[in-house]
Amino acid sequence: LPSLVHLYFYSQTARTKVVPTFLLLGPSGAGKTALLTLLQKRSSDQENADASSTRTSQVPWRASLLLPSSIPLGSNKYRSDNDVSLKDKHPTRYVMIDTPGHGKLRDDQALSQLQNPVLRGVLFVVDASVLDSSESSSSRDIAAYLHDTLLVLQKRKTGKASSKTKANIPVLVAANKQDLFTALPPGAVKERLQTEIERVRTSRSKGLAAVGQEPDADAEEEVLGGGGEDKFTFKLMEDEYGISVDVVGGAVKGEEAGKGVRRWEEWIGGCL
Ligand code: GDP
Repeated sequence: LPSLVHLYFYSQTARTKVVPTFLLLGPSGAGKTALLTLLQKRSSDQENADASSTRTSQVPWRASLLLPSSIPLGSNKYRSDNDVSLKDKHPTRYVMIDTPGHGKLRDDQALSQLQNPVLRGVLFVVDASVLDSSESSSSRDIAAYLHDTLLVLQKRKTGKASSKTKANIPVLVAANKQDLFTALPPGAVKERLQTEIERVRTSRSKGLAAVGQEPDADAEEEVLGGGGEDKFTFKLMEDEYGISVDVVGGAVKGEEAGKGVRRWEEWIGGCL
């Protein structure tokens, strides 16, 4: 009767197998759901082919995806091409968790997901066409959300949690809707976001000072990028905390639907 025992252990190991997980963040309307639907189509994963019909946008939604085998993986970077023969190449399974972008649900439903110990990376989707005017409330909102996201990742790095949760979590800012003529190109999206995040950072640290917190070492950890004098840049996050932030343009829908999506997948592959 060994088969039953074997079956039991087999199912236990299968269940605990860790699938690398990515988090999809960004404000409502950025294109998260559209992107996930597209990735599902590309992954041709039949298990989840009709899962989208059951989706509600109020709760995080988990999709099992396959990365096309033609996308290079970060873990293969140091192997020569000859090592990985084409017939050995399989699509790589990963999980993407979509989150509600609505302001009130962000802390509970979206940012709390950043504590996930198997998290490999964050895709932060923005609508590049609403970032054009400097004083728009949407660019302030996007910057505040990205600021809060990066601050949680920073604290995850500096906090007292176990080393398991201290792995570097890179962030991809997907500058979506590049098909629209009002869309800022990725380089300008990066500049805009850095400038807006600097504003958020300044007003938040004034807020901390106002409630009487001394600028001691603890308070420094409360400020994005640390309490230094330098203006905020994504490079600062990389240099100080090992958190890389890349901005890559693309379009999920519209006349150029699918443009740049492969580069987003390549970024995902680089994290695997
Ligand atoms: P979510 O709230 O972030 O999940 O955003 P959705 O995926 O629901 O997309 C919001 C709207 O933007 C929808 O009407 C999409 O069709 C549209 N959309 C998404 N991606 C693009 C894009 O690349 N270009 C254009 N023109 N529209 C897009």
